[in-house]
Amino acid sequence: MATSAHLRKLNQKRIIESMLRYRRASRVELSKVSGISQPTVTRIVDQLLAAGILVESHTSLTGMESTWSQPVGALGRPSKPLELDSSQARFIAIQIGVHQTRITPAPLAVSAQDQWTHSFDTPGSLGEWEQRLQGIWSKLPARGISAVVASLPGVVDELAGRVLFSPNLKWSQGADLAAIIRKLSPAPLICIQEIRALALGQAAVEPESSDFLLVDFGTGVGAAAVTQGSLYSGPLPLSGELGHTPVPNNARPCGCGSTGCVETLVSRKGLLQSAAEHHDASTWAELVTLIEQRGLPDWMKRSLDAAAISIASALNMLGIRQVILTGCISELPNVAADYLATAMRADTLWARFGEVGCKVAPRHRLVGMVIRAIERTLLTAE
Ligand SMILES: [Zn+2]
Repeated sequence: MATSAHLRKLNQKRIIESMLRYRRASRVELSKVSGISQPTVTRIVDQLLAAGILVESHTSLTGMESTWSQPVGALGRPSKPLELDSSQARFIAIQIGVHQTRITPAPLAVSAQDQWTHSFDTPGSLGEWEQRLQGIWSKLPARGISAVVASLPGVVDELAGRVLFSPNLKWSQGADLAAIIRKLSPAPLICIQEIRALALGQAAVEPESSDFLLVDFGTGVGAAAVTQGSLYSGPLPLSGELGHTPVPNNARPCGCGSTGCVETLVSRKGLLQSAAEHHDASTWAELVTLIEQRGLPDWMKRSLDAAAISIASALNMLGIRQVILTGCISELPNVAADYLATAMRADTLWARFGEVGCKVAPRHRLVGMVIRAIERTLLTAE
């Protein structure tokens, strides 16, 4: 639906992402970094100023620093610098993790580094979770917010605001989270699947990444693709579940109900289980030390080989040649990600004649959540 309204919304999003990346920029600079023509930038900036999303900065652009990326000072003459409004919290962000729930008020000018003001251990039932959230809510500057945005693990029907399947957080399945939020705030609840939030955040923070597959290693292993600057969505509210690709001869039961899924080998828990079975290490710190001193054990090479096949299958299918690795693999010595990258390239058709990139990046979850909340609540389509 390439209507003019759709195009306007896309352009607004690109301008906001550029502002998130560079923090302060003039209209001329925005045109250069976003690739949008100057007259269009001027029109969109006027709309975003009227909506209170952008504000004109009172400080000059000279000597500015970009906290996210390269400075834009060299890109053009300073003129009327613009900033995202940072005067108030626009959203309450809630990351519902398997082990921890983290909460923070978020302005539009959200930091690239995840920062959470409140957290608690995720309890074992919806009722307990609601109680813990209620206990924190009164401490939050939630008056006048535009939305509550929640990041959730599992298979999430984002439009319906429901978790369909969540082996690691069973109480969230089918839970009416919107009803819980309605008791606390008139603002709407926006749900996003947690790996998709990471991919949206990555796309906003890294200027060059308009096409990539993000693969996150944590409690589970999941992926999300960004193609041509947009988060890939399939017809089902499920995608990127490459952690549940079975590995031949792997007998480990998976939380999903199947046997032998690759995430039982390369999730944090799976890696620790293998390390214990091979009497190599019983804690994550011991595993790190082992790799530093002796290199990758053979069992880990085999596990990473299996993960590489899953990732390469996704690249071959989607037509993408850039992989971003996030999560616990970034806590291991570089040799682990390097081995995975080499194995993945060996399985990727594009690598036979072209370049396939693979790099480790920090998680930009909060940025992704804010981007989604902005898309859903503040951008105008008319
Ligand atoms: Zn599984």
